[in-house]
Amino acid sequence: MDLYDLTLHQARALLDAGEISAVELTQAVLDRILSVDNAVKAYLTLTPEAALEQARAADAARVGAGLAPAPEGQAMPLRGIPIAVKDIICTAGIPTTCGSRILEDFIPPYDATVVARLKAAGAVILGKTNTDEFAMGSSTENSAFFPTHNPWDLDRVPGGSSGGSAAAVAAGECLGALGTDTGGSVRQPAAFCGIVGLKPTYGRVSRYGLIAFASSLDQVGVLTRDVTDAAILLNVIAGHDPLDSTSLDAPVPDATAALTGDIRGMRVGVPREYFVPGMQPEVEAAVRAALEKLADLGAEIVEVSLPHTDYALPVYYLIAPAEASANLARYDGVRYGLRILGNSLEDTYKQTRGRGFGPEVKRRIMLGTYALSAGYYDAYYLKAQKVRTLIKGDFDRAFEQVDVIVAPTSPTTAFRIGEKTDDPIQMYLSDIFTLSVNLAGICGINIPCGFDAQGLPIGMQIMGPALGEMTILRVAYAYEQATDWHTRRPPI
Ligand code: GLN
Repeated sequence: MDLYDLTLHQARALLDAGEISAVELTQAVLDRILSVDNAVKAYLTLTPEAALEQARAADAARVGAGLAPAPEGQAMPLRGIPIAVKDIICTAGIPTTCGSRILEDFIPPYDATVVARLKAAGAVILGKTNTDEFAMGSSTENSAFFPTHNPWDLDRVPGGSSGGSAAAVAAGECLGALGTDTGGSVRQPAAFCGIVGLKPTYGRVSRYGLIAFASSLDQVGVLTRDVTDAAILLNVIAGHDPLDSTSLDAPVPDATAALTGDIRGMRVGVPREYFVPGMQPEVEAAVRAALEKLADLGAEIVEVSLPHTDYALPVYYLIAPAEASANLARYDGVRYGLRILGNSLEDTYKQTRGRGFGPEVKRRIMLGTYALSAGYYDAYYLKAQKVRTLIKGDFDRAFEQVDVIVAPTSPTTAFRIGEKTDDPIQMYLSDIFTLSVNLAGICGINIPCGFDAQGLPIGMQIMGPALGEMTILRVAYAYEQATDWHTRRPPI
């Protein structure tokens, strides 16, 4: 097996045993990027010198053949492991563009907490991955720079908005990656690229240094080749952060302890509202077969209802744009980012924002500003907040009966580049099964569960209650151990 194809935990074992060095591993991944990223276009910025420097630092900790144990009191599970970071997460001294012209030249003076934690855990940071502009999108086609291509079929999208991270993991251009998920942006690209994508509970992971899209929904998540790797990365980034007032001050259990393989007696809910006409039949068939597998493993399958599911899309497209319109007001051409000087202050605002933002971002700002404006606030924004509470109530009731809820991650497999760009509603529908998890503030994971007739990956979503990461990882791992979908690699 090529070094770039290793899972994070396989690489860990080889590094610790002294069978490979961090520099060899990093170089193998950088070579892989060189050979495939012309076609995949997962990265916006590469930092090879810094990466090799970090790899050398990891190797410097060698004693004899292997790596020395981490210093007392410091866990370094990622020492020497090459990781990619979505370009909406601040990295000190490294451009952070959010896939937008308006931040094209922005170099943050500080690291996001999640990046600081990666570094403290010894990770080798390879660079920044492509994203839909300000994470608004489901295909990475809304990046102001270029679209990313799906490594399983280069004519297709990798999903989005964390499409760069998902494609990089799938194509062997990193061993794991950070993404963000506001309405599905970790889980849906993971499904399209045939990898694991975990969106933690709102507040489980710090948002400090994550550039805000919709603050009540945004959460940093992880994209990996298998469930064990997701647990390892979650361990590194989870936990309270005094710099983020919404981060939860709750104990963080060791996520790898959830990987028992035993799900006997667990109750798995199947929401009847998630199996709708119009979804790709192969997706439904694969998820139903996966449910049978879970039953074979000893889980009890129970039908549940999430009756307000139909409202998730309209509620999300009021709340997310409303929050975005407020968050994006800061790009005024005065404080930082792009500045196009006009004849007056107002003209400077207009020129800067008019040229700095792409069409989808403008659409969201207009939708959001409208929903928040006097006279419409009660009818749209306030109403949406109330329905959001009903959607959360659906999950609260369901989780009284079941441990996890299983559904497709996306109604289809990866679509063609350009197929949905002219029709925003079609694009928005691609997240129909993932949005509710963010609205309810709970957690969810995508794992591979099959392929369609074109050879494109199909993803299954396992949803859990707030702080239920251990439970969803346990089910995901048991399924993964009983199947081999996660071992397939794209033909590229
Ligand atoms: N596709 C959804 C949107 O466009 C979700 C994006 C996300 O999770 N960042 O808003």
